Amino acid sequence: LHVHSTASDGVLTPSEVVRLAQDLGLTAIALTDHDTTAGVSEAEEAANGSLEIIPGIEINSEGDWGDLHFLGYYIDPQDAHLQELLEAVRDARVGRARAMVLQLNRMGMRLEWERVRAFAVGESVGRPHVARALVEGGYVRNVQEAFDRFIGNDGPAYVPRLRLMPAETIRAILEAGGIPVIAHPAYSGQMAVSRIPEFAEYGLRGVEVFYPGHTDQEVAMLQALCQKHDLLVTGGSDFHGPSLGEGSALGSIFVPPECLDRLHWENRHQAIARGSPTP
Ligand code: AMP
Ligand code: ZN
Ligand code: FE
Ligand code: FE
Repeated sequence: LHVHSTASDGVLTPSEVVRLAQDLGLTAIALTDHDTTAGVSEAEEAANGSLEIIPGIEINSEGDWGDLHFLGYYIDPQDAHLQELLEAVRDARVGRARAMVLQLNRMGMRLEWERVRAFAVGESVGRPHVARALVEGGYVRNVQEAFDRFIGNDGPAYVPRLRLMPAETIRAILEAGGIPVIAHPAYSGQMAVSRIPEFAEYGLRGVEVFYPGHTDQEVAMLQALCQKHDLLVTGGSDFHGPSLGEGSALGSIFVPPECLDRLHWENRHQAIARGSPTP
C-alpha cells in the first residue's frame, strides 16, 4: 500500500509497476507518488480490473521537529483545490533540486541540472533523481551512497523542500476525499510517533505500521497505538524500483488482508458521511 512510479521518483512507469505486481500475484497496490496523482489513471488502465489499484499520494510535511510524510488513500485526482496545492509544492521542488545541484557543483562535482531533469520524467522532481545523476556521473557507486555521502537529511548538499504543516496536509487529504495515514512514523523518528494522538485530532485515520525500516518492537508498539486511538493499520514496501540501492522490493512487506478490508470500509464510511455515491 505504498508504491512509487516514474510519476514521481520511482524507476518503473505505472504500467510497469502494475505488470510486476501482477507477476508477483499481489491483490492490490496503492500508487502513492510524491506530490502527484499523475500516475493513477495509467495504473488503472494497465490493471484493467485484474489488480486493485488504490489511488493515493504521499505528501511531505514538516513540524518544528522535522520531516513527516502522509499518505492519502482514495484521494480524488479531480479535486481542483488539491491539484492547485500540489502544483505549488512541485514547483518548489524544482528550485530545491537546482539548489542541490549548485551545492554539489560548489563541492567540485560537475553535475548538470539537465541530467537530473532527464531522470525526472514525471511531474515531481526528487532527491532520487539527483542521486541517479550522481551515479551516472561516476561520483558515487549507487543511489544509497549518494544519500549517505551528500543528500541525506544531514548531508552537505541537502536542501529542504517546501513543506506543509501536518494539520494542513491532513486537511488537504480529507478535503480531497482521501483517508490520511501517517507514513513510516517510527522510521521518521520518535517525535513523529509521539505526535500521532495529536494528528488523530486533526483527522488522521491510520498509521503505516508494516514498513521495511520498522523493527518488530516498533510494529508491536504502533499496533497497540492504533488500537488505543482507533486508527487503521496499513503497511507497504515504499517500492521505488528494482535497481541497486533503491530500497525494498515490491511485495516484500506482508500486509494482512484485514488491513485492506478496513481501508475499503473506511472509504465507504467517508463517502456516506460526505453524501457521495458509495464505492
Ligand atoms: P525528496 O522527497 O525529494 O526529499 O526525496 C525523498 C525520497 O528520497 C524518499 O522517498 C526516498 O526514496 C529517498 N530517500 C530519502 N532519504 C533516504 C536515505 N537516507 N537513503 C536512501 N534514500 C532516501
Ligand atoms: Zn520517493
Ligand atoms: Fe516517505
Ligand atoms: Fe514513499
